[in-house]
Amino acid sequence: MEIHRLKLSGFKSFVEPAELRVEPGLTGVVGPNGCGKSNLLEAIRWVMGENSPKSMRSGGMEDVIFAGTQSRPPRDFAEVVLHGRDAEGEELSVTRRIERGAGSAYRVNGRDVRAKDVALTFADAATGAHSPALVSQGKIAQVIAAKPTERRAMLEEAAGIAGLHVRRKDAEGK
Ligand code: ATP
Ligand code: MG
Repeated sequence: MEIHRLKLSGFKSFVEPAELRVEPGLTGVVGPNGCGKSNLLEAIRWVMGENSPKSMRSGGMEDVIFAGTQSRPPRDFAEVVLHGRDAEGEELSVTRRIERGAGSAYRVNGRDVRAKDVALTFADAATGAHSPALVSQGKIAQVIAAKPTERRAMLEEAAGIAGLHVRRKDAEGK
C-alpha cells in the first residue's frame, strides 16, 4: 500500500481545498503549534474508516467538519481523498465525505461502497487507521510502554496478518 496524494476540503482546519503529494520513503510533518499536523494525520485515518472519537479528538462524527472562525463561516461538508496503490500495485482512490445531518459516505475508485468494504481494503493491505506506519505525537513513548498484547497487535499489523482477523470477525457476523 502506498499513499501518493491527499486532497482535503472542509476537514477540521483544512477549510480551503488542499492537495498534498506524499513522496516515497519516510515522511515527517513539521510546523508550529496548531498549524494542523495532527489534523492531517487524522484525515488519513478518517478516510481509512476511523470513527473513534478519541483518535479523531472529536465529540461527534460531524466535528471533523470545519466549524468556522470569527472571520470564516462553517462548512457543511468535509471530504478527504486518498490516491495511491493497493497491496497488488493497482491504482487506488478512496473518498470519504460527511455532510451535516447526512452522515458519511465512501467511494473506492469512483464507485459507492460500504464502510465495511473500505475497512477490508485497508486490512488486506496491512495498513489502515491503526497502521504502525502512521506515527503520531507521543506514539514512540506508547510503544515503549505497551503491554505484550498491544505489541502483538502492532506486530500482526506489520506482518500483514491483521486482515485475517477482520475477515474472521466478518465471517462470524460480528
Ligand atoms: P501541536 O503542535 O500543538 O500538536 P498541530 O499542528 O498538531 O499542533 P492540530 O491539532 O492539528 O495542530 O490543529 C489544531 C487546530 O485545528 C486548532 O486551531 C483547532 O481550532 C483547529 N481545528 C480542529 N478542528 C477544527 C474544526 N472542526 N473546525 C475548525 N478548526 C478546527
Ligand atoms: Mg499535534
